[in-house]
Parts: sequence; C-alpha cells; structure tokens
Amino acid sequence: MSFRHHPLLVLTLALPACLHAQDREPTIPPPSIVEYHPRSRLVVPEHLVPRAKYPAVDVHGHPPLLNDAATISRVVAAMDSLNLGVIVQAIGTSGERLTRQIEAVKAAGQADRFVFFTTLDLGFVQRGDGQRLAEQLRRDVAAGAVGIGEINKGFGLSARGPDGSRLHLDDPELDVVWETAADLGIPVFIHTADPAAFFEPLDFTNERWLEMALFPNRQFNDRSRFPTFETLMAERERLIAKHPRTTWILAHLGWYADDLGKLGQLFDRYPNVTAEVGAILYDLGRQPRTARDFFVKYQDRLLFGKDSFRPEEYPYYWRVFETEDEYFDYYRDYHAFWKLYGMGLPDPVP
Ligand SMILES: [Zn+2]
Repeated sequence: MSFRHHPLLVLTLALPACLHAQDREPTIPPPSIVEYHPRSRLVVPEHLVPRAKYPAVDVHGHPPLLNDAATISRVVAAMDSLNLGVIVQAIGTSGERLTRQIEAVKAAGQADRFVFFTTLDLGFVQRGDGQRLAEQLRRDVAAGAVGIGEINKGFGLSARGPDGSRLHLDDPELDVVWETAADLGIPVFIHTADPAAFFEPLDFTNERWLEMALFPNRQFNDRSRFPTFETLMAERERLIAKHPRTTWILAHLGWYADDLGKLGQLFDRYPNVTAEVGAILYDLGRQPRTARDFFVKYQDRLLFGKDSFRPEEYPYYWRVFETEDEYFDYYRDYHAFWKLYGMGLPDPVP
C-alpha cells in the first residue's frame, strides 16, 4: 500500500478545518482543574495486589517513632498484611531517641523487622562541625544504627554554611563525615532537591501545576532564594565522585524517575550509587516498558522504598511492579494527571 493511499491519511485530509478543536471554544462553561475528574470507561482485567509476592524491604521507611509496644505491634501487623519483611526507620533519630527505639523493638521481640538509620543536623554547619558529626556518627553506629538518613532536601536547598551562605552539598567541612561513613561501612541515604518541575515556572505548561499551587512550599522556582535543579544535581554528583568509598542511596530515584537515562548514566559512572523508588510511582507507571527494561538492567542498584507510612498505599506499588494492568488510578491525584500501567517485572527482579 502506498503512503498516498493510506486510509487514515485520506480521512484526515477529508476533514474540514472547522472540526479541529483548537479553533473552537467550549459552548458551556468548562470545569476548573480541581473539578474535572473524568471516570474512565475502559474495561480491562484488573489484578489488585494487596500483598507483595516476595517479602519486601522498605528502605525509605517513615513509621512513627517505635518507642512503645503498642505502636510496634500496630506497625508489624500492617507489615505482615503487606508482606513487608523489614522497614528501615529513616525518620532520622540520634542519641537517646535512637537507642530508645532500638531497645523498644528488642523488648517487643521484633528486632528482626526493623533497622535504624541515624541522622545528622545539617541546618547550620559551622567550622569544626564535621569532626563533631563524625564522632556522633560513630556513637550512633556503636548503639546500633546501620546507616545515615534520611538526609532531607533542606541539605542543598536551605542549609547554611559557616559564612551564612547556602551550604553546598560537597562542602569540604563535611568530607570527614562521608569518609567516616565509608570507614564504618554504612550507607548514606540522601534526598536532594525535588521533582525538576518544582524548579520551573509555575505556568499552565507545568505538569505539577496543581501540586505547586496546593503546596506553595514546594515551589523552588524563585532564583533569588533557591539554586536550580541542575545546580543541585551537579553538586550531588561532585559529592558522590569525591567519596567513592561511600555507598550512596539516592531517595526518590534521585529525582531522575522522569529521565531514567540520566539515572543510568549516574549508575554507570559511579558504582557506589544506589537508588530507591519512594513517591515516584507515578513516573514508573507512565513508562512501564522503559521502566521495566531499566529495572531489569539495574536490578542490583535499585531498592524498594515507600516514604510516608500509609499501609493502604503500598499495594499500588505491588500492582505497578508485579502486574501488566492498564490505565489505573494512582493514589494521589494531585501528583499526576495521568493513569498508571503495570511494569510486569519478571520474578527474579525484586
Ligand atoms: Zn523520606
């Protein structure tokens, strides 16, 4: 069949120009962005996955403080129903607050279900703080912590250094901390920046417009107050390159979930980098084939993580990972104006 006679082409050419929607105005008042919730008419097979197929490790865990038996047993019951084997308590506690939780899970007989990361106060870093933080790190690890984190996005966005200016991620004052982590053999779990869209102008082409409008503190597009997304990514890469013995766990796939090629380049350049999938499910679910290929290729570098501890949300992750379901809802509609598709990961890829 020649291109000239392709039936679709013939049909398109036959349409009168006035039928093109861009020339028209709605004949009734259009709904606002918060009012319009079209219900999908699509009927396709559904496979809900309330329990993960294999026991999962949530490396980006934010359960409540695990200080008492009642809280611990409530969290463990939720973990059992989801088939979550282990949660990393990444809420960020140090010293007494850390040891209290470690003791409580031991006393509850649940020490094999939780591991604890310590935290670093990086809000205002003065000269000499590096040594002090490294010593704190050694104490917390001796008490039972097995990692650092979550280091939150304030590090890079708002943290201040000795001269009062923005503390760069690769500031030499903290070198001793990251090297101490390497000496101790513990990973650093770090959240840098936020979705790239949050750093872009809040106009009607921004795909996170509604979220940024609902949560003004997620707008990082004021260049007089915040660095660019690219600046933060470059600083993070220099930090990683400077400390090749340190294992880095990038939160939220390093905010490259919408550009997995970039994350792949980072993995290829730095064998000391891993990443976890918390709160970026909407990006995996809109590119199921690309994401599946990526997960198969980099399966040894990817970790499961959820971020906020809402048990009813975990099954959305299992469904995207395990099924090939099509066009289903995400649990938070202001994150994403699109539906999700299952990646259908093969069994050996956790
Ligand atoms: Zn987190």
